Amino acid sequence: MAGSLEAKLETVADWIAAARHVVVFTGAGVSTESGIPDFRGPGGIWSRYSPITYQEFISDPEARRESWRRSRESYSQFAAAQPNAAHLAIAELERLGKLECVITQNVDNLHQRAGNTRVIELHGNSQWVVCLECGKRYPRAEIQAWLERGVEMPACEQCGGILKSATVAFGQAMPERETTEAETYSRACDVFIVVGSSLVVYPAAYMPRYAKQSGARVVLVNASETDFDHRADAIFHERAGEVLPRLVDMVRARLPALPEGPPAA
Ligand code: NAD
Repeated sequence: MAGSLEAKLETVADWIAAARHVVVFTGAGVSTESGIPDFRGPGGIWSRYSPITYQEFISDPEARRESWRRSRESYSQFAAAQPNAAHLAIAELERLGKLECVITQNVDNLHQRAGNTRVIELHGNSQWVVCLECGKRYPRAEIQAWLERGVEMPACEQCGGILKSATVAFGQAMPERETTEAETYSRACDVFIVVGSSLVVYPAAYMPRYAKQSGARVVLVNASETDFDHRADAIFHERAGEVLPRLVDMVRARLPALPEGPPAA
C-alpha cells in the first residue's frame, strides 16, 4: 500500500475499527525501545553471542555454565526494563475492546506489565526458572541471588535436577497448548498486526501466514524488511513506539466513547 504515513495509518485504523477479531503478534523488536536488545537487529544479541541449543544445555556442563553466566550478566537489563509506548498502545487496544489477544515470542513479561490480560507466550517467560526433572518453579530473581553468591550451575533444591530458564531454547519443543491456541486465533482473526519480528523463527513465524491464508489483512510494523513484506496488506518500516500510539489514537477516535467509570467516592 503506497501513500503518506498518515494516510496509511488512517486506512489501517479503519480496518481495525471495523474488524471483529484483531490479533497482535510481537517479537523482540517491540521491546528494543525498553532497552532489551533484539536478536537480529543492529547490535542484536547474536552479534555478541552464538546461541546455546537445548541439547547442548542439557548434555554439556560447560554450555550450561556459559548459559547461566550470560543470563546473570543480562539479568539487570531485563529486570530494569519498563513497558514502552508500543506496549502501552497495545494494552490500550485491549482496553478499547479491539484486541482478541497478543501472541508474543517475547519472554520479558512487558505486555502483561503494560496491562494486557490475554497474552499467549510462545517462547515462555524469563521471570521463572524450572527444574527439568521435577518441574519445581523458582522466581528468576531468587536464582539471581544464587548466581551472585557464586553458584555457577544452579540445581533444584528439591531433587538436584538441572534448572533452566522457563523459556524455549533453540531445539526445545514448543509449548503445545500455547502453540495450538496461537494458531486458532491467527486463523480466526480479520486483522493481524505483526510488531517487531524478523519472522524467521518457526513455528512462530507461521502465524501471519495462517492469518493471511484465512483471509485476514496482515499489517507489519517492523524497522527492517522481512521475507513476508510482499504478502502484507500494509507495511510500516518504522519504530513501533512511534507508529502504534498514533494508530491506536486513530482507532479510539473511530469508536463510540467508552462509558465513564463510577465517580470517585
Ligand atoms: P528478531 O531479533 O529476529 O527480530 C526483531 C525485529 O524487530 C528486527 O527485524 C528489527 O528490525 C525489528 N525492530 C527492532 N527494533 C524495532 C522497533 N523499535 N520497532 C519496530 N521494529 C523493530 O526477533 P524475533 O522475530 O522476535 O525472533 C527472535 C527470538 O528472540 C524470539 O523467539 C524471541 O523469543 C527472542 N527474544 C526475545 C526478547 C524479549 O523477550 N524481549 C529479546 C531478544 C530475543
